Amino acid sequence: MARLRCVCGNTLSNSRSPNEIQYYAFSPNQWKYLLTCGEIDVLTIPDPEGEIWRCPQCERLCWFSEGGDQGQGYRKAGESPFSDHWENEEKLFRVFSDVQWDGLLWNDNVDFAKITIQPFLLKRTETGLLLFDPETQTEWTYLKD
Ligand SMILES: [Zn+2]
Repeated sequence: MARLRCVCGNTLSNSRSPNEIQYYAFSPNQWKYLLTCGEIDVLTIPDPEGEIWRCPQCERLCWFSEGGDQGQGYRKAGESPFSDHWENEEKLFRVFSDVQWDGLLWNDNVDFAKITIQPFLLKRTETGLLLFDPETQTEWTYLKD
């Protein structure tokens, strides 16, 4: 369990399971592995390379990564419909909400090549993050605080 104070003053907590706060970001290499490893015991799934906390009050994202950013904040800066730069893009993180992840881990074994849940796509840019929701075909731009 952890708590985090957002720039807006809101206190975020991951004490509820599942929660609407945490998101898990698997790197391109991790995702490639998960798609090709066949059925995997949920206990042996590698920890995601990145983790995101989303503030429900101001919609800011806070990005953490292994040995990298320790809580870089990003403010929501815009919303736009699907653009084709997501296609043929190999350097995308696959991002699962805690609710999605909880549903997946309900099984003992998961075959990621066969799951019907569509993860969010995340691209890191010079100025921030781009997040794409495949269900609503919407992308959001987040800029560094
Ligand atoms: Zn906030």
